[in-house]
Amino acid sequence: MGDADRSQEDDFEGFRLDDVLFACGCRQMRHEFHDGSVRIRTVRHDGKVLMDEHSGDHEA
Ligand SMILES: [Zn+2]
Repeated sequence: MGDADRSQEDDFEGFRLDDVLFACGCRQMRHEFHDGSVRIRTVRHDGKVLMDEHSGDHEA
């Protein structure tokens, strides 16, 4: 992995966002929601979604 741009947000009420954009254009996004569920999404630089997972305490 080379250079990466990272952006993070946190509203301190349970929502957190952690996005990484790599120099080649790949992205990895991690979002934590107020209900405790987590979404992780990885998109390759050509736009292909390599992973898109949403986990939580409850069934979707
Ligand atoms: Zn890439």
